[in-house]
Amino acid sequence: MYYKDPEGIVTDQCQAMKSVIATVFHQTRHRWCLWHIMKKISEKLQGYNQYKDIKRIMKEVVYESENMDKFETNWGNFIAHFCLVDNQWLTSLYEERHRWVPIYLKCHFWAGLSTTQKSESINTFFDGYINSMTTLQQFVQQYDNDLQHKWEKDKEVDFASLNTVIHCGSQSLMERQFQKEYTHAKFTEVQIEFRSKMNCLIHHCHSDGENCTYTVMEESIHNEHCRERLFTVFYDRKIEDVQCQCFLFEFKGIICRHALVVLAEERQKSISTKYILQRWSKNVRRKHNYIVTSFNSKDKPPHIQRYDTLCQTFGEIAQVACENHETSELLFVHLQSFAHTHDMSHSTKAYNIETHYPTRTNWEIGFHREIIPSMTGSTQIFITMNQFQEGTTSI
Ligand SMILES: [Zn+2]
Repeated sequence: MYYKDPEGIVTDQCQAMKSVIATVFHQTRHRWCLWHIMKKISEKLQGYNQYKDIKRIMKEVVYESENMDKFETNWGNFIAHFCLVDNQWLTSLYEERHRWVPIYLKCHFWAGLSTTQKSESINTFFDGYINSMTTLQQFVQQYDNDLQHKWEKDKEVDFASLNTVIHCGSQSLMERQFQKEYTHAKFTEVQIEFRSKMNCLIHHCHSDGENCTYTVMEESIHNEHCRERLFTVFYDRKIEDVQCQCFLFEFKGIICRHALVVLAEERQKSISTKYILQRWSKNVRRKHNYIVTSFNSKDKPPHIQRYDTLCQTFGEIAQVACENHETSELLFVHLQSFAHTHDMSHSTKAYNIETHYPTRTNWEIGFHREIIPSMTGSTQIFITMNQFQEGTTSI
């Protein structure tokens, strides 16, 4: 991946994978699939008399702990209350808590990749195309069919995002910013946060000039009871930086309802562009559409033919230009000028002539769509366009 480790990898608790990832990808955050762990509760703990209560409390501790300190306290109480101190499975889980407990992982960006969402796994990618009885020959054919189906589906979704409109649910100019920029799927997620603002109110505010600390109270229904939860939101008036304790933006890239309430309280009419991620934009030119695939290699669409010709020409020029620094820089300046003149500046802006390798741009994304069967055949790596863009990979 252009000499860069992936930012994150999600696997089950395979010890072999753990060792390999630690050895090969030194900078990568490796987390365990929460869904796999929670699925094992019945297998590992159903022998206990209080199994139902153990399962319920364990889920509460894992999912509801508000910060790391509270998790440690709650976990300690949970273990002591049910006399589980000798349970090896729970002990080993606690020792590796930073790999699977949500509160330890929320502050890092995972593109919303939730380990509990099976719909994001490779199994769903092949749904309807292969099963356990599929032969190797059938797999190759069905893989092509599946890829073509996904490609056509992607085009339909892109077309809908660019040519139809999901109406705003409020008069907020911020909501309109997201409507203008985001794909339908992501705008729908953002709208949930805008709608949920009505369940939130400012509980307390402490202001120290430019730095404000808000406490936002959110009401929700939990087990048929009304529940009130408090969230701390920090707001820097000078740089318009907002950070919420729930870490929704950090984890998923979606601004949360608590931050939106604070921005409204601060009378902000627009939101800083740093909270509108390009990765969710419907206006990004998706270069992976230019890759020749097995289902369109015989009859290349005109745009792919043009793309291939351009790449070949660029490649020949680049081979000569890269021989010395001055020629490379001159070529880059010309490319930038051309891009600027023809409103293509996005395509070249990430190039840094002073570094040996360019930083990743959307140009490169298309060259890395891959599905890699594992050595065991039971585990596969699936790198989507968006996940690759931020280097987040699920296994
Ligand atoms: Zn929040």
